[in-house]
Amino acid sequence: MGDWPSVIRSTPQHLSWFWQISKQCLDLLFPPVCVGCQQAGHHLCAACAQKVEPVGQAICDRCGTVQHTPIAECLDCQLRLDSPLVFTRTATRYVGAMRQGIHHLKYENCPELAPLLARYLVTMFAQTPWPAIYNRLDGVVPVPLHAARRAERGYNQTELLATAFCQQVQLPLRAEWLKRTRATQSQVHLNAHQRQANVEGAFQAQPQIKNKTILLIDDVYTTGATLRGCAAAAMAAGATAVYGLTLATPIAINMRNR
Ligand SMILES: [Zn+2]
Ligand SMILES: [Zn+2]
Repeated sequence: MGDWPSVIRSTPQHLSWFWQISKQCLDLLFPPVCVGCQQAGHHLCAACAQKVEPVGQAICDRCGTVQHTPIAECLDCQLRLDSPLVFTRTATRYVGAMRQGIHHLKYENCPELAPLLARYLVTMFAQTPWPAIYNRLDGVVPVPLHAARRAERGYNQTELLATAFCQQVQLPLRAEWLKRTRATQSQVHLNAHQRQANVEGAFQAQPQIKNKTILLIDDVYTTGATLRGCAAAAMAAGATAVYGLTLATPIAINMRNR
């Protein structure tokens, strides 16, 4: 079970009064249901929010994936000598209420979950080694959706997460620095090699990214192929350094690095 700070248990404080009142009116008409336990009242109730599992300390220091013990580089990282990411961290495990929350945010038209889920990114960002990197960051860049997919969904869930994250940590959101130029198929049923090929050349960074140090944000880290695709595009356009922060990772896939 997680040991999350009180901010995870409380209502977001940064919402404007207008948004708060509009939300209260809507909640009266359509009471939200918890994505974790289905009880009416909150999109993510306090009990389910506390049960979200942090990734913990036993990780690969480079890619942030779950390991049996803390290690400097997992097998995947050792084999991948040319990763364009300095390092990546993931906040939580992709199970239970977190898995349901991300699913609802992406596929069930629940953008209101983004600020609730972004608080786990903020909690992770307060921990080592992020405070030492904070002043170097020029902007936060969410993994972009292709324009067609974004139009279909009505929003980019990763951009909503990054927007809420930026408001809470006081960093500039620079979504316009990166575009997805090619529509890619869903990664869900692809293996690691197929994922890498699927995102190859799918992203293009804008000239403003030159000489900038950026933090990429994504919802789920599986093999890291998407994040590396984005980071490679940023580095090709002259970025100084790219870091990655993601919300959740399915652990089973990464446990083979014994
Ligand atoms: Zn619940
Ligand atoms: Zn690794």
